[in-house]
Amino acid sequence: MSMRPMVDLRTQYLDIQDQIDQGLAEVMDQTAFINGPPVKAFAEELGAYLGGVQVIPCANGTDALQIAMMALDLQPGDELITASFTYVATAEAIALLRLTPVLVDVDPVTFALDPQQVRAAIGPKTRAIVPVHLFGQCAPMEPILALAREHNLYVIEDTAQAIGADYIHADGTLSKAGTLGDIGCTSFFPSKNLGCYGDGGALMTRNAELADRIRKVANHGQSIQYHHDEIGVNSRLDSMQAVVLRAKLPHLDRYNRTRAAAAATYNRLLGASPWLSVPQTADYSTHVFHQYTLRLHPDLDRQALRDALTAREVSSMIYYPIPLHHQKAYLDPRYTEGSFPVTEDLCRRVLSLPIHSELSTDEAAVIAGLVLEAVEEVRPT
Ligand SMILES: *Cc1c(COP(=O)(O)O)cnc(C)c1O
Repeated sequence: MSMRPMVDLRTQYLDIQDQIDQGLAEVMDQTAFINGPPVKAFAEELGAYLGGVQVIPCANGTDALQIAMMALDLQPGDELITASFTYVATAEAIALLRLTPVLVDVDPVTFALDPQQVRAAIGPKTRAIVPVHLFGQCAPMEPILALAREHNLYVIEDTAQAIGADYIHADGTLSKAGTLGDIGCTSFFPSKNLGCYGDGGALMTRNAELADRIRKVANHGQSIQYHHDEIGVNSRLDSMQAVVLRAKLPHLDRYNRTRAAAAATYNRLLGASPWLSVPQTADYSTHVFHQYTLRLHPDLDRQALRDALTAREVSSMIYYPIPLHHQKAYLDPRYTEGSFPVTEDLCRRVLSLPIHSELSTDEAAVIAGLVLEAVEEVRPT
């Protein structure tokens, strides 16, 4: 046995190898490397999968966030409210454009933006809310959208970790993550639930006018070649990545079901341990388990547990070890130790286990057994 990995992209590739290899060979044969036919086809197929939205591919998920903020004409000094517990890209795009990130703490159980705290953070300069569908389940979008309507704010969803998840409206209808706000932003980084073999990303919107603006911003500010109406960026998905994404998209729901089944096995076997809190799925969302993230008992030594897991050939990762407001580049006099107690606590206690599209429930059960063994070994007596 070798190390059980966090993700297994190789087995996933072997399953669809013929289609990918053939598609890549066609791209090389046709030499339309940028904006070739597969890019357009993928955008249409993903738009249909998401329930009929326009999809604008771009170079990566961080670019998608930046392009969204540019397309909404956000100006330096405008405030955007986002979660203090997230991947850095969310705040990075805001800060790069000299917009002001206003961080709010998250719900300790769902890891999502807390609408009460969002409400409290809204001020005269607030222009947008940027919910993050962290680890694979949706943020509470209905309360967030209601706040946005009440205060005339944009909503930009960071759905890099939740592609394929469904938001469950109060009336029972479903919307795909990323299609509820003004713009959804996603990433096709290889390890995401829908990943390519390099960098990739996309924006999604129901608003046709906004879609045109996004296309323009992502293409050097031009809609007619060599006519630059505004300062844009160069952010494109290439044809080879689109080939990979087109091959995987029809399997996305199956990939996500496999992840959810593995997570259910983990929950069943780990849920009874007094040393572990298993992830909870909110009643307003399905969960596509980009990560399976435990919260450890405060008295359990996380590093010792990781070492005991490594000794048993089980990978683990900490998403995320340092809160945004403690990162050197994002230090801000408005925020100090204690500003976001839930985030600070989570950063000390979270631990993510292997989860991916190839993880069988049997293998998840084996890993869960090893986790329980490791906990027994390191727990305080
Ligand atoms: C991966 C990720 C991004 C950035 O995507 P890249 O393609 O790596 O730029 C943004 N936000 C979240 C929450 C992510 O997980």
